[in-house]
Amino acid sequence: MKGLGQAEKLLQSLGVTSPDEIDIEAIAWTMGAKVRNGILESCEARIIGFRNQAIITVKGDGDPRRRRFSIAHELGHWQHHRGRSSVCRASEIGSVSQGGAGIERQADNYAADLLMPAYLFRPLAAAHRRPSFEAIDALAAAFSTSRLATAQRFIDHSPWPCMIVCHGQNGRRWFRRNGGIPDHWFPRDDLDPESDAMDVLYGKIDRSRPTIIGADAWFDRRGADRFELTEECVKGFGNDVLALLTLKDQMLD
Ligand SMILES: [Zn+2]
Repeated sequence: MKGLGQAEKLLQSLGVTSPDEIDIEAIAWTMGAKVRNGILESCEARIIGFRNQAIITVKGDGDPRRRRFSIAHELGHWQHHRGRSSVCRASEIGSVSQGGAGIERQADNYAADLLMPAYLFRPLAAAHRRPSFEAIDALAAAFSTSRLATAQRFIDHSPWPCMIVCHGQNGRRWFRRNGGIPDHWFPRDDLDPESDAMDVLYGKIDRSRPTIIGADAWFDRRGADRFELTEECVKGFGNDVLALLTLKDQMLD
């Protein structure tokens, strides 16, 4: 197992032993950053720092879970990019579709570590019987984080071989898979008409029940039709659909 990251070390040094003790404004204060609500025109949050002190300004009128993530994201900039001020647009905070690198993703990773530290997240995730959006939503409520941020964390830190695939009207937008799944299980660009994701995408239903479906509905690799997986679909942001796929062990060889 990887060593603890900076955010997790900080939480442990503060004696945090449960999700409800992650008081983001108090943590910011211990890092020298004061949080205030403000009216921001073109951005979601910003941090202005000088020497060891900083002020984070965050939109006060939004979703409280989103606000927590934005503050934690700015603390990520404070930790990693000290010496420069950051102004972050909504599209830069918690954006999954923009790929891995860059300072915005580094700030997001810090935020996820701070709000959902693996040492608390892993045991609570593993306490559920199987991967599901019900489990993800329960974890999101426990950690006061969004469904989307929690779902990504769940993929990385639950004990099951699962992945999330996000589709919009124009095809696949992004996906995230657990590290235990081989790279050759790369999801298709288009949605299969057999999948419930189609009904969610076109608004016939808001979410589907977990359903067993042929793996070739999601992967066009040769031989995919020999396997089955479990899919569960919910509405994502805007018109997107999020599909949670749980692979069977036979697919991991
Ligand atoms: Zn940022």
